[in-house]
Amino acid sequence: MTQQRYLYDLADGDASMKALLGGKGAGVAQMLRLGVPVPDGFTVSTAASVDTTANDGEWPAGLWEETLAALTRLEERTGRGLGDPERPLLVSVRSGAVVSMPGMMDTILNLGISDATVEALGREAGDPRFAWDSYRRFLQMYGEVVEGVPAHAYEDALTAMKRDRGAAQDTDLSTDDLRELVEVFKIVSRTHIGSDLPADPQEALRRAIDAVFRSWLNPRAGVYRRANGIPDDLGTAVNVMQMVFGNRGETSATGVCFTRNPATGAKELYGEFLLNAQGEDVVAGIRTPRPLAEMEAVLPQAYAQLLEVMGTLESYYRDMQDIEFTVEDTVLYLLQTRAGKRTAAAALKVARDLVEEGVLTREEAIGRIEPAQLDQLLHPALGDHGQTPATRGLAASPGAAVGEVVLDSDTAERRGKAGEAVVLVRWETTPDDIAGTLVAQGVLTAHGGMTSHAAVVARGMGKPCVAGASDISIDTDAKTLRIGDVTLAEGDVITLDGSTGEVFAGALELVPPQINADFAAVVGWADEVRRLGVRANADNGPDAAKAREFGAEGIGLCRTEHMFMEQDRLPAVRKMILAGDDAERATALEEILPMQQADFEAILEAMSGLPVTIRLLDPPLHEFLPSLVDQALEVQRLELTEGTHPTDLRHARALLAQIKKLTEQNPMLGTRGVRLALLHPEIPQMQVRAIARAAFAVADRGSDPRVEIMVPLVAYAEELRRMRAIIETTLEDEFDRAGRRLEIPVGTMIELPRAAVVADQIAEHADFFSFGTNDLTQTGVGISRDDAEGAFLSHYLDSDVVPDNPFSTIDVDGVGGLVELGAERGRSARPDLKLGVCGEHGGDPASIAVFERLGLDYVSCSPYRVPIARFAAAQATLE
Ligand code: PEP
Ligand code: MG
Repeated sequence: MTQQRYLYDLADGDASMKALLGGKGAGVAQMLRLGVPVPDGFTVSTAASVDTTANDGEWPAGLWEETLAALTRLEERTGRGLGDPERPLLVSVRSGAVVSMPGMMDTILNLGISDATVEALGREAGDPRFAWDSYRRFLQMYGEVVEGVPAHAYEDALTAMKRDRGAAQDTDLSTDDLRELVEVFKIVSRTHIGSDLPADPQEALRRAIDAVFRSWLNPRAGVYRRANGIPDDLGTAVNVMQMVFGNRGETSATGVCFTRNPATGAKELYGEFLLNAQGEDVVAGIRTPRPLAEMEAVLPQAYAQLLEVMGTLESYYRDMQDIEFTVEDTVLYLLQTRAGKRTAAAALKVARDLVEEGVLTREEAIGRIEPAQLDQLLHPALGDHGQTPATRGLAASPGAAVGEVVLDSDTAERRGKAGEAVVLVRWETTPDDIAGTLVAQGVLTAHGGMTSHAAVVARGMGKPCVAGASDISIDTDAKTLRIGDVTLAEGDVITLDGSTGEVFAGALELVPPQINADFAAVVGWADEVRRLGVRANADNGPDAAKAREFGAEGIGLCRTEHMFMEQDRLPAVRKMILAGDDAERATALEEILPMQQADFEAILEAMSGLPVTIRLLDPPLHEFLPSLVDQALEVQRLELTEGTHPTDLRHARALLAQIKKLTEQNPMLGTRGVRLALLHPEIPQMQVRAIARAAFAVADRGSDPRVEIMVPLVAYAEELRRMRAIIETTLEDEFDRAGRRLEIPVGTMIELPRAAVVADQIAEHADFFSFGTNDLTQTGVGISRDDAEGAFLSHYLDSDVVPDNPFSTIDVDGVGGLVELGAERGRSARPDLKLGVCGEHGGDPASIAVFERLGLDYVSCSPYRVPIARFAAAQATLE
């Protein structure tokens, strides 16, 4: 067995070796190859840290010998020695993960400084104070990082000295003060460790490398990895590089620059620098850096070289770079280069410009943009803020909202309509809350998950929503909202970020949506590339129009129950549900029919020439009645109120009895969808008539209606066979009545596991399938859409039992497997079967990639997600 190699001189690496050398190591090695000036050094590979961790912290055989050999080579190349009292070599020891984890792991600077070398360093720099300052900084950093001495131990000593000397700032301390401080710091270290710091600089190096290995395992790094989906087993590389000093007088400097403006994407000089300073001075904000352009006057040579290097690096990486540099005594060194983090607007501008400059192809540019960034641009977002959230819930509908807390829908409706900015805060939302939601800036709920009513409705309207914020509690009597320990009154202002799930007390600044020409151009490229169609879920004319504006190619799901829930419809709907006999029910349905027809007309008009899938009524009937508890209380109230009219009491009791009769233990698994339709065929008959009449009316006005009828919650082929017969008989009747015909395909939702398994049988009666992945997740995984996220699922997510919320991102192996099975079996019986998805997953980029792999025909999502879906579909095709 050949022994594993762990050490790489910079000259041995390049950009392709990121997995082994980490981002920083590979980047610096590549810079060296490109002729960009970098400090010399070597990289301990990620494999060394992985093997050390696997070995319970013991270094693998050969690693130390290789390190010493690399050190010797570095000493030869630089003509310096670690610990050499004449020509001392000082090095930095830095972490370097494969995926950047800024600030999460540890760094040690100035290693090699000691009693033996400090004088030589001062002599060389012509500045003894600088040498002693570097020494005390090293002692503190080494003590903290390597030996675990608490930071305050050194800070206290420093503060005491400053107080004693009457020094306001560190820089007011003299060389002698610093010399004395070094002695004090040594005592501090000895007191905490029980022994001296190693006098042997090689031993100090070994321990420093080891400390960086260990910092991969520190808690904050672990939290960061989990939050960013970085695997725990990658390990970190360690970069050992010769120190260069930006704090060696007025011909030295340190700075950071971007090759383009990371806020706007504009191709212009962007960066800052500080003369006579170290990187940490910039970070700590002790001194205010100067704009990069001013460097031309003070360090002209280094400045000119820096501009050239920026060009070299951007053309090599073909992307905007974020660069750290140091000038030591007029000589420029690059310390790091990486793809620059940028705002969403800048990401689009840079992508578009790079394509126009001929640097990237459109396909490459599409691959560089995060779909989530597009999402940011479609909604108001929070500006920069340093606030800690008061609590957080599920990021249920993106965008940010600021408004006064309102705890009931009626008040929200009244105040919202009066033009006031309100945020509707509820335990959970019900259909009754629609009116308040419509005019609120955003919605916050304590209960409910990603597919809860509040979330689905808010996404459909493009309203920010944080759902399932279990930390909040609402006192409707006192009109207060408690968030943890804080109590807010109705009227106090809060801010929601539906893109992150964060909730803040008070008003934060909002940045408005930014759909501009860059956005349109990039999404336009996506349309040329993608295979999957993109439709929208919309239930009314304005939403359908909005969806079309966003590029939807039709409606994949029109939920007709939302029309039943409108306030002005509820009385007629309730009359229908509470009807004593068929005749009474027929009368009530006659009342509803024109309302439905008007809704359908508006949608068909807005989507003229494009397919519109209208789903027949889905939810169980009790959802349209008041809650059981509310009605029981109402009966009690009437009973206790003197002078209640007996008729009122009788009505209230009858309603209560009807609610009890209709309420089921598991309504989600109860009399809904096709089951309800087969039990009460007069309901789908009314809906089908309304659909046909709407289509004819719209056609008469010159539009081109392309309607499709969809049956929900089918499990048995026989259900669909019978339902189709009802639909077709009703349609024939309407065609006869109108004296003309329409082509109206009939299809079904596939949203139950049984339906996926017998999809071939069901396909005999279906012109199309639309996978209802919300219910398919609920029934396939066996978890409640309304409760799971508030209960065990958040624990599962926190503790990595499941990788993602299966209601947001499709559970590939399980529910994805059911979709695959349903698609295969459906097509086996009917090769021309059209296959879509209309669950919430239809707007989720990771899920869209799965649907692309499964060869579905289209996805359907809320109007505001349509551009992201178009873009994600293109990325999925390119993959
Ligand atoms: C589904 O179940 O995925 C679906 C789209 O239907 P709904 O969310 O209305 O149950
Ligand atoms: Mg469903």
